[in-house]
Amino acid sequence: MSSPVWRPFFQHALEPDPPRVTHAEGAWLTTADGGRLLDAISSWWVTTHGHRHPRITAAIREATESLDQVIFATVTHEPAERLAEDLVALAPPGLTRVFYSDSGSTAVEVALKMALGAARNAGDLKRTTIVAMEDAYHGDSIGAMSVGERGVFNAPYEPLLFDVARIPFPAAGREQATLDAFERLARSREVAALIVEPLVLGAGGMRMYPPWALAELRRIADATGTLLIADEVMTGWGRTGTLFACEQAGISPDILCTSKGLTGGVVPLAATLATEEIFAAHRSQDRARTFFHSSSYTANPIACAAACANIAVWREEPVAERVAALARAQAARLSRYDGDPRFRDARVCGTIAAVNIAVPDTGYLAEIGLTLRRFFLERGVLLRPLGDALYAMPPYCVTDAELDLIHDALFDAADLVGAGR
Ligand SMILES: *Cc1c(COP(=O)(O)O)cnc(C)c1O
Repeated sequence: MSSPVWRPFFQHALEPDPPRVTHAEGAWLTTADGGRLLDAISSWWVTTHGHRHPRITAAIREATESLDQVIFATVTHEPAERLAEDLVALAPPGLTRVFYSDSGSTAVEVALKMALGAARNAGDLKRTTIVAMEDAYHGDSIGAMSVGERGVFNAPYEPLLFDVARIPFPAAGREQATLDAFERLARSREVAALIVEPLVLGAGGMRMYPPWALAELRRIADATGTLLIADEVMTGWGRTGTLFACEQAGISPDILCTSKGLTGGVVPLAATLATEEIFAAHRSQDRARTFFHSSSYTANPIACAAACANIAVWREEPVAERVAALARAQAARLSRYDGDPRFRDARVCGTIAAVNIAVPDTGYLAEIGLTLRRFFLERGVLLRPLGDALYAMPPYCVTDAELDLIHDALFDAADLVGAGR
């Protein structure tokens, strides 16, 4: 009988059993058959320094010597307190409160609830609309799907998704249309919040937009009393070249979601950071204004200890230098795609490099996704194209030679799907 495991984003009727991984270290996974896979997508964008950073795994071992899950609504503990202080110190200025949860999707749900709660508690009962960007991705729970782009991935659940207002993606040369659309919506004073992925739309195809457009969205939000939610679940922890992507725009959001790289990608944890004003809107003698949210594993001490260790790594190892070096190395490899008719839009943002393959029909490409994934596995590289977008987002420990393996595989993949023909 086949395995009882029902896998995520996996079509069991079409895909063969995946390779079984027995060991992970640095940028590499070892499989049960003795093969090796280069993790070119940081295991779906979570692994920052490399797999099983010794300092983080040691912190986890140590934490389990004294604590396991304890109810966070009634008691507190040192790892959660320390992490909250560290996060406030590292995040863009003005974010003074830290709410814990367990995944990026939940961090987004919490952010949306904070924005709606703050508006209601301030007596702003008309501010109920959420504005989101076209091609956005914010997670797979119902609320997170609602603010994300609609399509084949969420069509069956459409009846449960709430309406949001959309602004176009600020494509190069068309940023003003995005800003104008947001300004029109925000002027209605019925918008509670704008939610954006700063600088890079991840699952939407690694689409990139300039920091100044994000700064302008912040300016319009300020001018209209609209909250800005930065979903830094993917972009945080150095991915875009800075610790948080918002830094490049010189802005602070009102609410910031972080998860993936928060523990260095070792164990699940998320945090939603908020301004003092949003916290104050929930602080009241009136119990009805309480922020009603919790999950069983809120602020898990072991996960918090892992996140503290991740921050210690950032502080004590030359992580910023590694990120800068990887960003330069990625940028240097883009030239091979430029002028090649099989590719278009080679681009880079910090440690993320992406390029689209020039295929006449992207519907056909969805079919070929499986073929591409198999091709990459055979090459010993773990890659997952997003439609016609190929991208490399390796952990920061990747070497120049390893990065070449990744880009060689991307380069050769285009022929497989008849790109440029
Ligand atoms: C991955 C992702 C999420 C969802 O995080 P999960 O931990 O998978 O729930 C939310 N927002 C963005 C921008 C993401 O990339």
